[in-house]
Amino acid sequence: MEKLIITVAPTGNVPTKELNPNVPITPDEIAECVYKCWQLGAAVAHIHARDGAGKPTSDPEVFKQIVEKIKAKCDIIIQLSTGARAGKTAEERGACIDLKPEMASLATGSSNFPTSVNSNSPALVEYLAQKMLDNNTKPEIEVFDSAMITNADYLAKKGLIKTPMQFNLVMNVPGSIKGSPKNLMHLIESLPEGSTYTVSGIGKSHAQMTAMGLVLGGHVRVGLEDVLELEKGKPTSNEELVKRVVDLAKVYGREIATPDEARKILNLK
Ligand code: MG
Repeated sequence: MEKLIITVAPTGNVPTKELNPNVPITPDEIAECVYKCWQLGAAVAHIHARDGAGKPTSDPEVFKQIVEKIKAKCDIIIQLSTGARAGKTAEERGACIDLKPEMASLATGSSNFPTSVNSNSPALVEYLAQKMLDNNTKPEIEVFDSAMITNADYLAKKGLIKTPMQFNLVMNVPGSIKGSPKNLMHLIESLPEGSTYTVSGIGKSHAQMTAMGLVLGGHVRVGLEDVLELEKGKPTSNEELVKRVVDLAKVYGREIATPDEARKILNLK
């Protein structure tokens, strides 16, 4: 089986130090955490930025600081978030792509978050896809429901996304597709031929969904963006979550991909 690409999503938009003291918030904290996760086996870092008050921001200056600090420490693949919670307009959400990151997230449709809309209009999605294309940034298609796969395929046929595409199957966000084995199989079977995919299990679905992704030959995303505790009342950490997947990969005979091996698997060069 192909080597396993581990993505770490250390911060997200929702976690706070009150919810879990191990969440890295400042650029220094994020870079240090990503570095430790890289040492443990992570090949991709999915990055969200926070402002001085700890709130989500799409400010490219903050992204720039984080990127520079990570690059000074290691060669992990940096994937910047263009998610709906940090910025309002397409221009705000896509500002970080001017930094020409190797990857950026791209949701190809709308859904609900627990208390807000994951709003991605056709015009916004096409704007972000075009900007990624222009900057040689590979999108990771964030799939919150099966229609987002259909739409990504449509955008690829229009020439806005290069193939083979890389998908992140985001399972169990309240308001989006439920994290069940049947649903995950349905999404995997719906992917365009030749695609690569990563599985993210949100909250209680985390252990089951990521284990399925690993066993089925997909790749796995872990991190406090997706899950704050594995056991009730016990805050986990990004490092612990990466280590857990590395151990699981050993059990199931999957070798871990280095960042350069992941670049080959994801066609980044
Ligand atoms: Mg994200």
